[in-house]
Amino acid sequence: MTARTETETPLRTVKVPEPIAPLFQKAEAYVRRYFADRHEDPEHSSILISGERYVLVRAASMSVEFFDLVRSLYADKGAADATSVAKNLLYDLAHSLGKADARAFAAKMNVTDPIEKLSAGPIHFSFAGWAFVDIHPESRPTPDDDYCLVYDHPFSFEADAWIGHGRRADTPICVMNAGYSSGWCSESFGFPLVAAEVECQARGDKHCRFVMAPPGRIEEHLSRYLETHGTGERGHRASSSSASGWRRRCGRPTSSSSGAWPSARPSCRRPTRPSRPRSSSASWPRRSAARCR
Ligand SMILES: [Zn+2]
Repeated sequence: MTARTETETPLRTVKVPEPIAPLFQKAEAYVRRYFADRHEDPEHSSILISGERYVLVRAASMSVEFFDLVRSLYADKGAADATSVAKNLLYDLAHSLGKADARAFAAKMNVTDPIEKLSAGPIHFSFAGWAFVDIHPESRPTPDDDYCLVYDHPFSFEADAWIGHGRRADTPICVMNAGYSSGWCSESFGFPLVAAEVECQARGDKHCRFVMAPPGRIEEHLSRYLETHGTGERGHRASSSSASGWRRRCGRPTSSSSGAWPSARPSCRRPTRPSRPRSSSASWPRRSAARCR
């Protein structure tokens, strides 16, 4: 019996389009080994995973119960404002966590290609208990202004917390899922990205579904999603990552795209972290790209 190589083992912790599956199989093997090296030492208040210290946080405390706390603190402002405050805090926190984790993992895996840097993200996400990630084929994560990712998060810890508490949200509430995933991808590709949840199981929708794009293009993608699906929500974080902020920092982005995965230069990279993109052998399927353009 012949042992399977890493890239022959079926993916179990993430779902991606077939052309890029080998990259994610490699990342899954790496992340599985990373989380297998786990040492718990409560007498010294320590949980070490591959030598990195982690902390466990009760999921509901970071979601439904955090919303309740903020609503009680902002009772005089009204439920809508309180919900907005809670969402923005959780989104920004998770976005920064995603960026930092992506930076650390890219260094550990010694990868520089944007897609390879991205690949460990969804798998780490699942091993860490946040959610499973299902990236749709219509996604076009090119390293430029045409970047667009459509993806589901089955088993989202945030939706589970609301459902487990017998609560029905009136708006998509998986904001940490949106923040973390967009933070990881921003770091991997080297330019700002924001994500919005357009459907949420905590609201009674069939999926927890997200759209991710540069800040200056997100409204356009959300409008198209609304037109196409007749549902959705403009629930993304605005403020510092807003379209106007994006244009101020980077100038008006260009709109060229190679249609391949990834090959073009991004229209705005942070100058302090010049990337060395090299062409990935994995081309993104084009047949359904129209829904993401
Ligand atoms: Zn959700």
